[in-house]
This record gives sequence, structure tokens and C-alpha cells, in this order.
Amino acid sequence: MSTNKIKITIVPGAACGGCDVSLANLGERLLEATELVDIVFWPTVADFKLEDLKNLDHIDIGIFIGSIRLEKHAEAAKILREKAKFVVAYGTCACYGGIFGLGNLSTREELLKKVYLNTPTTENPEEKIPGQKVVINGVDVTPPRLTEWNLPLNNIVTVDLYVQGCPPIEDSINHFYEVLVSYAKNRKPFEKGMMIPGAKTLCDICPRKKPEKIVIEKFRRVHEGPIDDELCFLAQGIICLGPITVAGCGASCIKANMPCRGCLGPPADIIDRAGKFISTIASLVEIEREKELSDEELMRIVQEIVDPVGTFHRFTFSSGVINKKQEDAKK
Ligand code: SF4
Ligand code: SF4
Ligand code: SF4
Repeated sequence: MSTNKIKITIVPGAACGGCDVSLANLGERLLEATELVDIVFWPTVADFKLEDLKNLDHIDIGIFIGSIRLEKHAEAAKILREKAKFVVAYGTCACYGGIFGLGNLSTREELLKKVYLNTPTTENPEEKIPGQKVVINGVDVTPPRLTEWNLPLNNIVTVDLYVQGCPPIEDSINHFYEVLVSYAKNRKPFEKGMMIPGAKTLCDICPRKKPEKIVIEKFRRVHEGPIDDELCFLAQGIICLGPITVAGCGASCIKANMPCRGCLGPPADIIDRAGKFISTIASLVEIEREKELSDEELMRIVQEIVDPVGTFHRFTFSSGVINKKQEDAKK
């Protein structure tokens, strides 16, 4: 083993496995990279325990996949930060909390009660809930405890590089691979806070026709009538998160005649994603009649949007500035 190789770890938080698969999509390049890189911890592909992470003397690049939803995820993240020169949040869950963030609409206790006690098919007469201490034959086998809230990685530790996507796809993986190889060859540090894929929005690369002025008279959902497959979704009254989503997927949903749900997360310069989108939408609603409409009429049009939190914040609720509960959790 060359002593010049850099050491990489891939540490999972609350994750579905998709981000691991996306890294595995490096395919042969992953094997080529072993000339430059030692992957010294990756529990998804080999039997590693937290102790193994603790026992590493140093890490060059620590990749974290998934959000923080268990206390042991937070512990792993802190160990990673302590040992790694650079910490990478890989995938939308690590960057923004991901789809699990919608769990922050309920408290931890509400979630546990719902899942382990109150669903119609649950039989749990002793009311056992994960997180309670369990000792079997004198051995402590207490299951992992949920954190109070689902959190993105940067709520726990400082992050040096963000790779967006649920999961990151080809262009972002290629870009990330180049960054890794460049670091392995030249030891050139990352630009701190760097985001992959970049700063353009999906609208910037979208092939659909965008009218100069969009006026939304009524919102509708994709199943409510025909969709013009060449016209901008917003111009058809269908919510599309293109204006607040970073371009990096090649507009794959748009090309399949489906609006963007925002799975890559926002470009670097948008901090409050939902706030930005709501203000964009408000400026499009009946713009020409805006002065004639009462506040109630404007509100009625906006209220036609079904499930606003799930619509605007499906992948980023844990990191939105309107997420008061998550803000409280940081105190
Ligand atoms: S970002 Fe998406 S693909 Fe990656 S772990 Fe989260 S849910 Fe899975
Ligand atoms: S809102 Fe959606 S459909 Fe319209 S230009 Fe932007 S990405 Fe394309
Ligand atoms: S179009 Fe939107 S939802 Fe679809 S893959 Fe791209 S960023 Fe994700």
C-alpha cells in the first residue's frame, strides 16, 4: 500500500442506500481510484462498526451520507469532523436533511407513539419503544435513540464541501470524482463551502418555452387535465420548483413531462428556499389583476396549493429558516 494514498471514509447517517449506490456508480473509476485512495471505512459494503471509525488515526476526506436522525449519527459525525481534514456532505439528506425532514412536522415522541403504539395494526401491550434501555441476559442491547429532530450535517459539524442530489447523479459524481482525484494528486485544498453542482437554476437550462410574463390564474396538479409538453409548467398553473432548484440533473423530470420537486436542493445563493418560492409565486398570481384582488382573494388562489410544506420543502424542511422546531433544536 502506498503511503501517499489519501484515506477516505464513507459514513452513513439516516439514508436509503441511494447515495451509496450513486458512489458505486463510479464503477471502474472506483477501482482506478484505489491507486490514489484507500477507503478505510464504508459500513454499507463491509462490516465496520463505530469503534473502527474511532480507532482511525486520521482521515483525509470524510464523506457523510444521509441526515442526522439517531444519536449515533451525531456521534459518528463528530468523530468524523475530529479526524478528517475535509468533511463532505454527500446527497440532499446530508446537505439539507432530505425527505426525512418532513418528520420534523411532529415531535420525536409523536413519531414514536404513532409508529410503535397507535397504528391500527400494531400490537404492543408492553408499550416498548426504541430508545428505552433493554438488557437481555445481562447484556445492554438498547436500540439506537432518535435525535429530537432530523437535521442536516451542518447542524452538527462544519462542512467543507456539499454534493447535492437525491442521489447525486452523473455530472455531480464526475465533478466530485475530479475534486477527489485532484486532491489525491496535488493535495490542493478544497474551496471551503464549495457546492457541487454549482449556481445555475434548473430554469436556466430548462428546454421549455417560457412566456415573457407568466400569470397564474389557478393552480392545478399534474393529474388534473392535459399538460402541454413544451410549455413551462408554471405557465400552466402547475407548481414546478425549477426557479429555486440548482441545475445538475439535466432536467430529467421536466423532459419526462413532470414538474421539478426540487430534489437537488437550492443554488448556493438561496438561503430560505420556501420563502423565495412563495414570494416568486405571489408575484405571478394574477399579476395584472393583483391591485383589484382583495387579500382574501389572493390568499384563496395561493391556498389552492395542496400540501404547501410537502410541495415547497419536500427535501429541505430540516434546513429551512421557517422551520422553527429545527431552530429550537440547535439551541
Ligand atoms: S439523498 Fe436521497 S438517495 Fe441519498 S440517502 Fe437521502 S433519500 Fe437516499
Ligand atoms: S419553472 Fe419548471 S418548467 Fe418552467 S422554466 Fe423553470 S424548470 Fe422549466
Ligand atoms: S427535475 Fe427536479 S426533481 Fe427531477 S431530478 Fe431534477 S432536481 Fe430532482
